[in-house]
Amino acid sequence: AMAAAPPPALVGAGASGDEDENAATKEDSALLRKLIHSKLVSTKADLEVLQKDPNSPLYSVKSFEALNLKKELLDGIYSMGYNTPSKIQETALPVLLADPPVNMIAQSQSGTGKTAAFVLTMLSRVDTNQPYPQCLCIAPTYELALQIGKNVEDMGKFMKDLQIIYAVRGERLDRGTKLNGHLIIGTPGTVCDWALKLRFFDLKKINVFVLDEADVMIATQGHQDQSIRIQRGLRKDCQMLLFSATYEEEVMRFAQAVIPNNPIVIRLRREEQSLDNIKQYFIECADAEGKFQALSNIYGSISIGQSMIFCATRRTAAWLAEKMTKEGHAVGLLSGDLSIEQRAAIINRFKDAKEKVLITTNVTARGIDVEQVTVVVNFDLPLTQDHKPDFETYLHRIGRTGRFGKKGLAINMVDSRQSFATLKAIEKYFGRKVEKLDAEDMEEVE
Ligand code: ADP
Repeated sequence: AMAAAPPPALVGAGASGDEDENAATKEDSALLRKLIHSKLVSTKADLEVLQKDPNSPLYSVKSFEALNLKKELLDGIYSMGYNTPSKIQETALPVLLADPPVNMIAQSQSGTGKTAAFVLTMLSRVDTNQPYPQCLCIAPTYELALQIGKNVEDMGKFMKDLQIIYAVRGERLDRGTKLNGHLIIGTPGTVCDWALKLRFFDLKKINVFVLDEADVMIATQGHQDQSIRIQRGLRKDCQMLLFSATYEEEVMRFAQAVIPNNPIVIRLRREEQSLDNIKQYFIECADAEGKFQALSNIYGSISIGQSMIFCATRRTAAWLAEKMTKEGHAVGLLSGDLSIEQRAAIINRFKDAKEKVLITTNVTARGIDVEQVTVVVNFDLPLTQDHKPDFETYLHRIGRTGRFGKKGLAINMVDSRQSFATLKAIEKYFGRKVEKLDAEDMEEVE
């Protein structure tokens, strides 16, 4: 059969109706990042302690043994394959485990070990001989709460008798129930109901309160109010902890409102991305079909490790995936009509190098870092909603952090006066030349 006709030339992608941009909620992105971070994200950035408490210990540990944990907890950590504390854990854990307990606000990007740090804190402070909830953790969605729960179950698997309770939609309990599990993980709405309206457990008996994904939480007004109502029901000496992947002013204002008593504030800045070490090229083509032909030449003539190809719309991405598959390439297609779990599965396959090429639209790939990608193709150059060159997205697609500073290759496909103008604007903005490439003659690239 013939491949479908190429999609029409795109003028200002954001305007066309087949965008997958319904998929871009903060909740979805947070869950996607959780599902694809099977490994610790390491960073060279230094941890900053922005607000100190003179009475609390500030030192870092280089091993889990140094924390004097219960044996079954240490066994749990090692069984998960953790050998040494991550960067944020080195400094956060001694503070988190100190007595008397200290409140903390901590920010670092997804995948740096925050969840493991607060799960360890809750588990080290729980007494399984006491038959009532002692630790409470809230997260913005059902799915995120379940992810945390999985962590608790794994790390706590040698603590016999440990009982975890999920306070999420769908869990129905009889009136008059008194919970006798040890640790509650839930969403703000259900936790509010269970604690304040139905009184299934006593907030005054909670010793550790954790609010996770604060930056996602604040996107929902109801969640802010519910979080504050829950926090107000806690004892003054309950340990209160807040974690966030980002550090905007609004998040910090909320954080300071929920976490009282001069909390320690720690932050691990994200490493800056740069275009150093990236060779940037552009190829002039007549239309989408021409772009495909050029790509086909490139993949046929140079050896490419793993590559990502960005398209402006779902439709172009699907079209290109079909054409490349027909040419015999193992291609993954990341598209907005997939569930979060399906997307995570595709990204994980790509991370495991089961496919060498990942074709995607912008939004579905936002915030995803695949370290081993050496070639990035902008099948369509990134544009903002109002059709201006999107410099930030360009940098995010092809930029590298110092750490993964391997040489990279970026190839930009240009097929109209508008896309050429976008390319020139990008060149000017970053002050770096984007060389013209002849798709028939790839020698200069190698
Ligand atoms: P965050 O909450 O910041 O997103 P997580 O705690 O979920 O980060 O950790 C990210 C990934 O790294 C998870 O797969 C987790 O199991 C793993 N991880 C966490 N801490 C360590 C550690 N000290 N050593 C090795 N792996 C770790």
